[in-house]
Amino acid sequence: MKKYLQKFTYILVIMCVICTGCTRKPVIYQKADTAMGTIINRTIYASTEEAAQEVSAKIDSCISDLEQKHLSWRLETSEIYRINAEAGSGQSVEMSPLLADVLEQSKKVYAASNGAFDFSMGSVVRLWDIDSRAVMQQTDFTSEENSSKMQLPTDAQIAEALKYVGVDKSNIDGSFISLPGGMQLDLGAVGKGIVLDEVYALLQAQENVTGAVISAGGSILTYGTKPDGTTWNVGIVDPFDTSENIGILALPGGCSVSTSGDYERFIEVEGIRYHHILNPFTGKPSDSGVRSVTILCTGGVNKGLFSDALSTACFVLGAEEGLVLAECFDAEALFVDSRGEIHMTDGMKQFFYLSNSGK
Ligand code: AMP
Ligand code: MG
Repeated sequence: MKKYLQKFTYILVIMCVICTGCTRKPVIYQKADTAMGTIINRTIYASTEEAAQEVSAKIDSCISDLEQKHLSWRLETSEIYRINAEAGSGQSVEMSPLLADVLEQSKKVYAASNGAFDFSMGSVVRLWDIDSRAVMQQTDFTSEENSSKMQLPTDAQIAEALKYVGVDKSNIDGSFISLPGGMQLDLGAVGKGIVLDEVYALLQAQENVTGAVISAGGSILTYGTKPDGTTWNVGIVDPFDTSENIGILALPGGCSVSTSGDYERFIEVEGIRYHHILNPFTGKPSDSGVRSVTILCTGGVNKGLFSDALSTACFVLGAEEGLVLAECFDAEALFVDSRGEIHMTDGMKQFFYLSNSGK
């Protein structure tokens, strides 16, 4: 009898330990900082504060590795920098498996969008230099010197830069690539999505993390679940009033959402806005009648890359063609056009809740 009692007590103790472990609420860890020239926000649900901090530090090194080793066009240490530096030399550059896959997937969006998304636009992107000039204009809007720096590229300069654009003029053969003289790769339209794909894989390998939402610029990833079982809610910015959201997407874990908008980075010259999403055929800021495009990918290993590439492609194509393109990739799309009207795929309707309304 004594033996049975002992055994029973032993089992009871083990069950109590297990149950306490099960019911312990995860801690919420939040942090915002800058990397890759953008703000990285993270909310992580983990078993302990230490575990969350540890994962957060891993996320930081994952992002800086990607930037330094693979994606940056500015840093001499990156593959993209080396590929660009060899343009016109006739020398093929061997790519890492990661970059070879990124370019292979990106090429699919280039082809399906008929070149609206083109990751060889470096020459034109550098010519406009909207990213750094937008920062300059916002920080020192009024100075004379500043406005003179806001001179727009001439048509002749744009025509010259466009000669070096077109992914189909590059030579990509498995893991080897060579570019014709003058061509420069620019992964600005997919970089944040690529980062989120790597961060997603990293989160999957963490036993102590139950849920997370990570945003990098205009791209956001959801992972796992929240302790209360509610959805991850991602706001969609109102392009007409960027302090407001037009609505939210209520999402499960495992989604990637990217938005491209004309309000994100732009300069204003004589009252006209010149934004950072360029039409590869005109070499000028795209003017397809949309103010923003949000793409949602609900699964797949490259969901971040595809949502990011497609948001840029769809912005250039406009609502009508963009909706068709999104569907080719099983992605959901939401467009806000220049009249403020919303257009979306049927699948997006189940996730989207308009602000101040039922659905
Ligand atoms: P996103 O905000 O994701 O739409 O990406 C915009 C960034 O991608 C720009 O800052 C450029 O670096 C680059 N870019 C601009 N236009 C294009 C385009 N049509 N195709 C590919 N990349 C582009
Ligand atoms: Mg993009």
